[in-house]
Amino acid sequence: MDTTSTPPALVLPTTPSLNHARTTLHHTLPSTPLGLDATLKHLESDIAPAVPASSVSPRYFGFITGGATPAARAADSLVTAWDYSVAVHLPAESIATEVEAAALDLLCDLLDFDPEVFTHRTFTTGATASNVIGLTLGRDWVVEEAARRKGVEVSVTDHGLVKAMRLAGLDEIRVLSAMPHSSVAKAVSIAGLGRANIVDVARDGAPWRVDIKKLRAELGREGVGSIVCLGAGEVNTGYLDTAPEDVYAVRAACDEFGAWLHADGAFGLMARILHPSTYPAIHRSYAEELADSITGDAHKLLNVPYDCGFFFSKHLALASRMLANAAAYLTPPASSGPTVPSPLNIGIENSRRFRALPVYATLLAYGGSGYSEMVFRQIGLARRVAAWIEGSKGYELLPRGGERGDIFMIVLFRARDEELDKSLARRINATGRIYVSGTVWEGETAVRLAVANWQVEVEREGAVVEEVLSQVLDKYEEEKASES
Ligand SMILES: *Cc1c(COP(=O)(O)O)cnc(C)c1O
Repeated sequence: MDTTSTPPALVLPTTPSLNHARTTLHHTLPSTPLGLDATLKHLESDIAPAVPASSVSPRYFGFITGGATPAARAADSLVTAWDYSVAVHLPAESIATEVEAAALDLLCDLLDFDPEVFTHRTFTTGATASNVIGLTLGRDWVVEEAARRKGVEVSVTDHGLVKAMRLAGLDEIRVLSAMPHSSVAKAVSIAGLGRANIVDVARDGAPWRVDIKKLRAELGREGVGSIVCLGAGEVNTGYLDTAPEDVYAVRAACDEFGAWLHADGAFGLMARILHPSTYPAIHRSYAEELADSITGDAHKLLNVPYDCGFFFSKHLALASRMLANAAAYLTPPASSGPTVPSPLNIGIENSRRFRALPVYATLLAYGGSGYSEMVFRQIGLARRVAAWIEGSKGYELLPRGGERGDIFMIVLFRARDEELDKSLARRINATGRIYVSGTVWEGETAVRLAVANWQVEVEREGAVVEEVLSQVLDKYEEEKASES
């Protein structure tokens, strides 16, 4: 990956360009259409200057946006040019479903998952959609499993949730988790499970970690079916929520009590590509291969353009039942070509973008070694900034009690001065040179710096971050001194 091009000077649009763009927007159809040239001019001169360089700049550390590698970007242009909908497997007519299947195989290879075990694999619009599929499959499975354990056969897909739960002897379904991503609550709500049924099973003093005792106590409740939702990793700290020594205990508890295990690895999955023999200092989560279902995002650390997520599960038969989209006109004709499940029967959408192509291209172009090297740079920058913060007088590294060796690609910190802390994210972002997210950690405002772009260089970006953080501190102290 060639990271040598100079990053744009500013990561955010200026206020005047935002205001200007706003005044130029059309909210009714023009009486005479603008035509192609004038429309493109409008996009380029009015709208483009008001769009942040969030995915373009290696110095945008808000959310976890990633970027787009040159190979992924080029492939994405082809996707638009071809405008082919990958829905039905038509081996005599199109190679597209086989390219998707190959891209999913390459992802398994990159992330070290056994494709024979994770038989249900599909691309999604992002991690939220993957969480919706995971929790919905989990919902159906725990009800059907509770029924099986009573010697009754039920199908949630056929009977509906209410009747199936009654037949299975279940009053509630709960989702057990430690600091799940906000999209998990949304997925829980869409799946009809109820946001109030998300139960916190976090360890005291380490709220991002699952407490096995609490987990087992919740799993053992009479009349309750459970989905365990692991965060790999937690979005403020990047930490994984299952301590390595607890991973097998979590799986064993799920097996004992008939619970479904879902792992949300939207960005954390990429820690898996750093092989311990090559990068011994880097943590990796060993939990995901034990999960029933896994959420991943490709538009984050894999650095393909929006929108692209993926979903793996071990339950192809259940998924094919729940997500089947049967219609005579959508049934592939008998053919001698390779068999691949039609994407419309194992995912949410019917018509869908050929979003596998950029994944296929970027993995071929850079391979496992290119991506390990990229993640290593991202972790290198995060750890450099963390070390600088630890050595600074004005800032404090969070979480208190966290291990430096657990830092992946997110740095959580605050200003020691309460007043400064309240406006810290705004002051950092006002410099325009880098962008961070404000958050709340253990009741206090904090700042989160997430490294996710493929272009990141440790020395170049590290120096800018440290300069900005020093400047913000100096400026605040000057302001205070001039007030008194
Ligand atoms: C970003 C993120 C999500 C949501 O992903 P989208 O791609 O924005 O839908 C879910 N879980 C985690 C852990 C995330 O970091």
